[in-house]
Amino acid sequence: MSKPVLQIKNLTKTYMLGKRPVQALTNLNLQVNQGEFIAIMGPSGSGKTTLLNMIGCIDKPTSGQILLDGLEVDKMPEKELYKVRRDKMGFVFQTFNLLPYLNARENVELPMEATTKSKAERKKRASELLAMVGLTGRENHRPQRLSAGEQQRVAIARALANNPAFILADEPTGNLDTKNKTEIIKLLAKLNLTNQTTIVMVTHDSQAANQTERMLLLKDGKIVKEKQGLHLAKKNNKCPHCNADITLNDEICPNCKKPILETEEPFI
Ligand code: ADP
Ligand code: MG
Repeated sequence: MSKPVLQIKNLTKTYMLGKRPVQALTNLNLQVNQGEFIAIMGPSGSGKTTLLNMIGCIDKPTSGQILLDGLEVDKMPEKELYKVRRDKMGFVFQTFNLLPYLNARENVELPMEATTKSKAERKKRASELLAMVGLTGRENHRPQRLSAGEQQRVAIARALANNPAFILADEPTGNLDTKNKTEIIKLLAKLNLTNQTTIVMVTHDSQAANQTERMLLLKDGKIVKEKQGLHLAKKNNKCPHCNADITLNDEICPNCKKPILETEEPFI
């Protein structure tokens, strides 16, 4: 049985726009288990980024409770929250947010600077992480000499630097072409399977959402729909279409011959 690693209870976030309150999240409840890969979808302005910011301890809720790995983060002061962000969270953004004057390896080393690791250890780990995301040989390239897909791989390696409990990804494929989109989702799914990292991904892409374990639809600050994704069956070594036994490396089901991570049924 997986244990809940994130519990959100009656979460409300109200921003003030001048004197006008904007209710971004309303009494939202969500539980995510250790090692889950979930997708959050929803129209622009539905509260997706606000929700990720609350989970990532970037901003505080107006009311409600957030338990992260048993920590009541909504009650913690900022001087403790930065440690939660540093030690438990890896962030991936639509625009990659790499530092242009650092090379790939130095970008990945950056979050480790606040830790006890020596310079040599940081360098070694950064190279290992870049290998894990398929960028061996690209360590010394600066972002401008990398393609968009490669830059997002560097950003994912950076997110993994301190071995976080969570990866929070806000539209990670939003700036990528179809081929790179598919590759990045595959990479996240692989990391989820091999490292058991819990991943919460915001996406506009129904196809990408389907390749996670569970999809949530947000509307006006509330979760209005939920559905299982194809990654769940894959995790259990079963074809989501015909339930035949498959292995983790299968992309086409050996029994029904359908692509395992594709479906005709859109979530929204
Ligand atoms: P999404 O990521 O789904 O597009 P957001 O979480 O960014 O939605 O925004 C949800 C709502 O909160 C929107 O109405 C948005 O305009 C509002 N909002 C977001 N951030 C702020 C802010 N800092 N100040 C005021 N209103 C905000
Ligand atoms: Mg957003």
